[in-house]
Amino acid sequence: MSTVRHLKSPAAPAPLANGNNSSIDVPTIVQGVIEDVRANGDAAVRRYSEQFDKWSPKSFKLSDQEIQDIIATVPKQTVEDIKTVQSNVRAFAEAQKASLRDFEVEIRPGIHLGQKNVPIQNVGCYIPGGRYPLLASAHMTILTAKVAGVPNVIACTPPIAGEIPNATIAAMYFAGADAIYLLGGTQAIAAMALGTETIPKVDFICGPGNAFVATAKAKLYGSIGIDLFAGPTEVLIVADEYASSFTVAVDLLSQAEHGPDTPAVLITTSEKLANETIAHVEKILTETDMSTAALAGTSWRDYGEVIVVDTIDEAYQVADSFASEHVQILTQNPREALDKMKNYGALFLGEKTCVSYGDKVIGTNHVLPTKGAARYTGGLCVQKFLKTYTYQEVKSEDASGELGKLCGRAARAERFEGHARSGDRRAQLYAGEKYKW
Ligand code: NAD
Repeated sequence: MSTVRHLKSPAAPAPLANGNNSSIDVPTIVQGVIEDVRANGDAAVRRYSEQFDKWSPKSFKLSDQEIQDIIATVPKQTVEDIKTVQSNVRAFAEAQKASLRDFEVEIRPGIHLGQKNVPIQNVGCYIPGGRYPLLASAHMTILTAKVAGVPNVIACTPPIAGEIPNATIAAMYFAGADAIYLLGGTQAIAAMALGTETIPKVDFICGPGNAFVATAKAKLYGSIGIDLFAGPTEVLIVADEYASSFTVAVDLLSQAEHGPDTPAVLITTSEKLANETIAHVEKILTETDMSTAALAGTSWRDYGEVIVVDTIDEAYQVADSFASEHVQILTQNPREALDKMKNYGALFLGEKTCVSYGDKVIGTNHVLPTKGAARYTGGLCVQKFLKTYTYQEVKSEDASGELGKLCGRAARAERFEGHARSGDRRAQLYAGEKYKW
């Protein structure tokens, strides 16, 4: 019998798989924008930028001088902080790159098989910014692509309420973007995927975003590659009776403020901690000066969940069924989650660690799978920008002759006569087999 008990359930229906939680028909809007950009290029991009972002500059691309002028307005401390965070992100990405190796193996005498990791040549990075200037997304996307060795990285970010997000532009520049466009939403994704008169077509698009951005990436996938489904943020905390209910409440709200559609879930073995957490959340939302309380409160009301279970193993099982983007472990023995849990975007172990570190400063990548995508993928990483290619060379005549005979038989078993004859030809050349052509 299940011992799972809900002390708080979501007030709103479950979000759709594309990340859209509202009555707006996101897929239809996105499809319309994509088709228009395909047919009309820059003219369509400008029309949607005006319509959705009230933004229509002379050029969406920032010139080198404009970038330098923008950076000059960013406070010195912010620039220093961007550089410190980027050195953390670079260090981790470089370690990821070092863990990959090209190799060649002789699987039988004379038969050499190899593998090479080749960077994608043209990448488009989306740095979200409709609601907040997400500087960190610039480090996570552009910098990681550069560490992977991508030669050409272009990047788009929207204006925020008609303003240029100066610090985000600085982060994009220091991360190594080869071109920066002030452009957002579906029109940015479509422009990079399809190419326009002024925005070059890329091979691969990465980066997080709202339901419009995530849906656009999913619809364009195939003609371009995409990193993963990185839609609206999610957080899930597993806690036992040793956790501080105040810390749990603070950390749930740290993510709930992302947008009105952020699921914040607590799974705990302690009913006392669950009740205390609910009380702390309400108190922070109503009695403190948290400036994002309204947004966080909407998320908490509509998508917040508090679940009590009997055992910590059950807590991990329920947590796995969510496959949440961020999973924070606040228990007596947090590292056991590394073995016990199978579905998560990123794990945050123990009270000295928090999701905000991962989001903003620590150095692991914060572009992470949402809406259950963690069942089949991890987050953005150097590997996503590399194509693993294979190659082969048969170096001895004996090996090629024997392989030719095997190929002839194997291909004929599948009724591929043309394939078989390529094998026959080698068998004839190197194993003395006689064939009538
Ligand atoms: P955004 O840049 O993703 O979207 C802003 C754009 O949306 C605008 O430029 C506009 O063109 C478009 N838009 C807005 N309303 C529209 C409408 N009605 N019709 C058509 N287009 C419309 O910025 P955001 O909205 O602030 O969202 C950022 C999202 O990224 C948040 O949901 C956040 O949780 C998520 N995020 C996810 C991760 C991850 O790894 N999964 C990481 C960081 C952020």
